[in-house]
Amino acid sequence: MVFSEGSMKQMVTKVAINGFGTIGKRVADAVDAQDDMEIVGVTKTSPSFGCELVVRKGYPLYCTFDDNEKIGAFADSGYECKGGLSSLLSICDVIIDCSPGKVGAENLAKYKLAGVKSIFQGGEKHTLTDISYTSSANHSENMDVDSTRVVSCNTTGLSRTLVPISEFVKEKGKISVNSVMIRRAADPGDSSKGPINAIKPVLKVPSHHGTDLMTVKPEIEITSLAVAVPTTIMHVHAITVTLPSGHGLSAEKVLELWDNTPRVILMNGAKTKITSTAEVMELARDIGRKWGDLHEIFVWEDGVSLLDDTLYYFQAIHQESDVIPENVDAIRAIMNIEKDWKASVDKTDKAISAYNGI
Ligand code: NAD
Repeated sequence: MVFSEGSMKQMVTKVAINGFGTIGKRVADAVDAQDDMEIVGVTKTSPSFGCELVVRKGYPLYCTFDDNEKIGAFADSGYECKGGLSSLLSICDVIIDCSPGKVGAENLAKYKLAGVKSIFQGGEKHTLTDISYTSSANHSENMDVDSTRVVSCNTTGLSRTLVPISEFVKEKGKISVNSVMIRRAADPGDSSKGPINAIKPVLKVPSHHGTDLMTVKPEIEITSLAVAVPTTIMHVHAITVTLPSGHGLSAEKVLELWDNTPRVILMNGAKTKITSTAEVMELARDIGRKWGDLHEIFVWEDGVSLLDDTLYYFQAIHQESDVIPENVDAIRAIMNIEKDWKASVDKTDKAISAYNGI
């Protein structure tokens, strides 16, 4: 930890990013936007095109590996590489692992050896860290832990809209949820995934998304099915919630709950003419965040219906970006900086907006 200059000395957490891909480059910017943390380095595996962005942003560039030949390859391509992962680990307080998934165990061993706290992403299993994270579900449980995992984009989306409902009805009982996840086939930058002309059900039934929510909010009983469709821009969830009797909710009250929930956008599809994910992403581009990101979960208010004890709704998830502000909040939890999740969310989001000039 270091102290920044100024009359009120503030702790500035030194953050490293391991893996500067779709998620890593976005988390780096979100961290760079905050005044209580700074980027001390990001890693690339090799001198690919992403290094240009690293240079433009002025982030110190490190190699994902300690191998001298791999480190040397950066200079051969004209990039200044400051060293391998071990060098980066020696100067940071916390590392955000944004590797492609399933390499977490190997990376965690390196972080532990260096005595550095770490945050993983949803491509890793909950068992890697034995604790997972979303801002609204379990921020306080994550205070001062050594390592955590920000759940996937889909699970983050489920948490955003289901946690407030679960909290509202908890005196009356638990909610029971079934969600159908209509998943994008690939991110816009991916050329190796599909399908491109098919609808592909995930035959592992139920899918992992529902059970993943229970890692951050075990009180919610949930199952899910998933299907991949040929789009790159968003996921859509079709959600059915069975509420406990005497729940006290109406469709209007549910909308009011979400209206008061951070990082949820409610819009009327018929009135706004936002009738599909295409228009939702156009709205996101209008908002003006970098890469046209949408950190919020989008809910069509005219698609919300409550019949007796059953609530139905649709929501859309920008898979590349809803987890980005959650990573910033997770840093404040595991570094013991801010106990109040809403205070952290407010600080994170205001700083990102200012950074983007919006
Ligand atoms: P990506 O493939 O775009 O980026 C991964 C980066 O890590 C690449 O730059 C790659 O070169 C680098 N890398 C490769 N091996 C590495 C290693 N051993 N150690 C460190 N870095 C390594 O992947 P992504 O989409 O950014 O996904 C990163 C993580 O975030 C995954 O766990 C994924 O499941 C999760 N996630 C992805 C999305 C999404 O929509 N892309 C959404 C939420 C969560």
